[in-house]
Amino acid sequence: MTKPTVLLVEDEPAQREVLEYNLAAEGFAVLTAATGGEAELVVAETPPDIILLDWMLPEVSGIELCRRFKIRAETRAIPVVMLSARGEEVDRIRGLETGADDYVVKPYSMAELMARLRVQLRRTRPATVGQVLEHGDLRLDTETHRVHRGGTEVKLGPTEFRLLACLMERPGRVFTRESLLDRVWGRDIYVETRTVDVHVGRLRKALTEGGADDPIRTVRGSGYALG
Ligand code: CA
Repeated sequence: MTKPTVLLVEDEPAQREVLEYNLAAEGFAVLTAATGGEAELVVAETPPDIILLDWMLPEVSGIELCRRFKIRAETRAIPVVMLSARGEEVDRIRGLETGADDYVVKPYSMAELMARLRVQLRRTRPATVGQVLEHGDLRLDTETHRVHRGGTEVKLGPTEFRLLACLMERPGRVFTRESLLDRVWGRDIYVETRTVDVHVGRLRKALTEGGADDPIRTVRGSGYALG
């Protein structure tokens, strides 16, 4: 399954290293930033699935950075989990008022932190954390990699499987070819956008075998959506 991408924003190198190591071991693709400015550049270039943000940062504070992410339409939906050494109730409330989706107080256990990140991803990127996705008569199991339509198993290649998982995470949402390339093929691989059309074609063929109707909608000039 596609790895979820986390942006880790932490200025202390030792802490950053430990977290980066643990996040990678947990199956995340990890992007890092040491300052708010760096974090904003990374997010503009490669929007992550989730942001893990340290409260204490030089220049722009973690709170201010979180507030900025939550104001902007392009970044608002990305869950932000804040890390802080301050455990007082007032800080907890301030942290949540900035729009942070969750808040973890240091010292924390790595297992707890990972569990909190997964809770957020279950909501926003369910296919990256082993959830079963359902839409109409379609059922996609990200653990067993099996797809059923109306109880009948549909055989899909790995690319078509990831493509369908991506569409099923957000039924109705129109994905551009570029965003599908990022999510399905990964950002580091060069693939022509036309390739997306080829694989959507294959996916459609597999899903409509036996005369079932086509659940994928082509949005002219934009991309594809489910339903
Ligand atoms: Ca720090």
